[in-house]
Amino acid sequence: MAKASRITAIKGMNDILPPASARWEWLEDVVRRAMAAHAFRNLRTPIMEHTQLFTRGLGEVTDVVEKEMYSFEDRPDQHGQADHLSLRPENTAGVVRAVAEHNLLYDGGKRLYYMGPMFRRERPQRGRYRQFHQIGAEALGFGGPEVDAELILLAVHLWAQLGIQNWRLELNCLGQPDERRAHRAALIEYFEVHADQLDEDARRRLHSNPLRILDTKNPAMQALVDGAPRLLDHLGEASRAHFGAVQAALEAAGVAYRINPRLVRGLDYYNLTVFEFITDSLGAQGTICGGGRYDYLIEQIGGKPAPAVGWAMGVERVLELLAEEGVQVPEPVPDAYAVIPDAAQVPAALRCLQALRAQGVAVQMHAGGEAGLGSMKSQFKKADASGARFALVFGADEVAAGEVTVKALRDGAGAQQRQALTDPAAWADRLKSPA
Ligand code: ATP
Ligand code: MG
Repeated sequence: MAKASRITAIKGMNDILPPASARWEWLEDVVRRAMAAHAFRNLRTPIMEHTQLFTRGLGEVTDVVEKEMYSFEDRPDQHGQADHLSLRPENTAGVVRAVAEHNLLYDGGKRLYYMGPMFRRERPQRGRYRQFHQIGAEALGFGGPEVDAELILLAVHLWAQLGIQNWRLELNCLGQPDERRAHRAALIEYFEVHADQLDEDARRRLHSNPLRILDTKNPAMQALVDGAPRLLDHLGEASRAHFGAVQAALEAAGVAYRINPRLVRGLDYYNLTVFEFITDSLGAQGTICGGGRYDYLIEQIGGKPAPAVGWAMGVERVLELLAEEGVQVPEPVPDAYAVIPDAAQVPAALRCLQALRAQGVAVQMHAGGEAGLGSMKSQFKKADASGARFALVFGADEVAAGEVTVKALRDGAGAQQRQALTDPAAWADRLKSPA
């Protein structure tokens, strides 16, 4: 048979392998606890949706919808109709669709969170992948500024639980649609005067979505953008009061922030409060979490109007920041390693290991190859390499006596004791690592 060519993963889509995957699990555990502490409940939506959900939800004239979505036409059904589908580039639209579809707000507001893969066809680089992962929190059905603050404080709580120190918070207020219209006119006027300095994207968006120009990643346009009219100067009484209340809540909680009038976020659905958590430790891809209010998104996709606010953080970037800051994540090691010198002892060993695992002991069983289980010496070598604190030796003598030898491999290495096979629950606790 000819040697088949090697198949690799898709560019920008990564395998998450052990031992690194343990850091993902640890982070997810911390997040679950943090969400529970804030009474947020888990929601899981499909990774594929109708393309329309995103074109209508995120805005046609955004980087994500114009250039980054993985979209395709499904096979036609028996009437020749084919669905236009997309891998989700983000999950707020999916959450909103699910909330509207299942009428989740019928008995009041909901606090929800999700974790999972997202897909964007970007140029892969450090902190920017084509399959990446987000953890997101969304509070729907609450219109008051205290929920904006609650969401921001939830993220701050997470940074503390994860041990992340190097972050700063930037805030802005995008106002309401009528305020945006006045600002939009001022923006178009300003950019028209400086049309010679606009890049191709900006020229194309000048009349369709001038706010997007403020979100440019082109360094050559930074000075121009810095001089642009500020949305903050177009805010009315109610928007200013909402923004003021969010700031007051953050101050009361002792959370430092900076107002960044250029912060507009990459998607169209935001209004009033928007925010980003940024770190200096990751170079250009320094935004680890971003979010804001999206009071009009639900009706935009055909649901009953309801206010909402949320954020999403980039898991890859947060994990990289954890490594950058030297945060130690516990390595999973088994409590014990089962050494089985002879195949005849396998059934007794298996029975005992199942009983120990039921008591919460993590046990790695020795497994051999075609030629058998291998020598005691090689088994002990593997026991040592596993990191286990104890070896359980199921020798013929021990098993015949209804016992197993428990041998310490780390603290007090070499010390050993025999324990009864009939009652593993009685001695299981001694094998467990101190929490
Ligand atoms: P950026 O400005 O870096 O492109 P964004 O505004 O497109 O980010 P959001 O849509 O707000 O990002 O997504 C929230 C978070 O998800 C980002 O702050 C970032 O941490 C992460 N993120 C976004 N795109 C990617 C990607 N391609 N690869 C890895 N993480 C990403
Ligand atoms: Mg982006």
